[in-house]
Amino acid sequence: MQIDESIELKFAQQLRKHRLRLTRARKEIFQKLYETNKPLSIQDIASITNGVHFVSVYRSVDLMQKAGIVKQVPQGFKNLFELSDLFRPHHHHATCKICAASKEIHDARIESLMNTLTKEAGLLPTEHHFELYGICQNCLSAVEDSKPIQRED
Ligand SMILES: [Zn+2]
Ligand SMILES: [Zn+2]
Repeated sequence: MQIDESIELKFAQQLRKHRLRLTRARKEIFQKLYETNKPLSIQDIASITNGVHFVSVYRSVDLMQKAGIVKQVPQGFKNLFELSDLFRPHHHHATCKICAASKEIHDARIESLMNTLTKEAGLLPTEHHFELYGICQNCLSAVEDSKPIQRED
């Protein structure tokens, strides 16, 4: 997949703004996150980037997070990463606790509530984290399907 030129330009500008060089590893990680379009762990990223060492992935993601290019998505005990709101429309996630299937949520009600609550706490809103968890239909029906078998045992 070819990344839009304006997105690539914005990526280069954001690096420059934070006095970071555009290295092959950084570009590769950015590209993979852009293509995959869902939160990934460091391991996930390392497994799909060609010839970029795990340690280098770890360091690059850390730097790119500090530069506001990548953001952390806390999912359970795992730390996942995706491109920041500069490169993707702002959104939240609803994740299945069992199979980790994750769905994006774009909802103005969340944004307005988050802003209101932040202001009511006496703060000028700058960011928020909001994640939903549950059990998806697939996993629910798998549990239901296994019930008669368990009873036969
Ligand atoms: Zn599931
Ligand atoms: Zn939000």
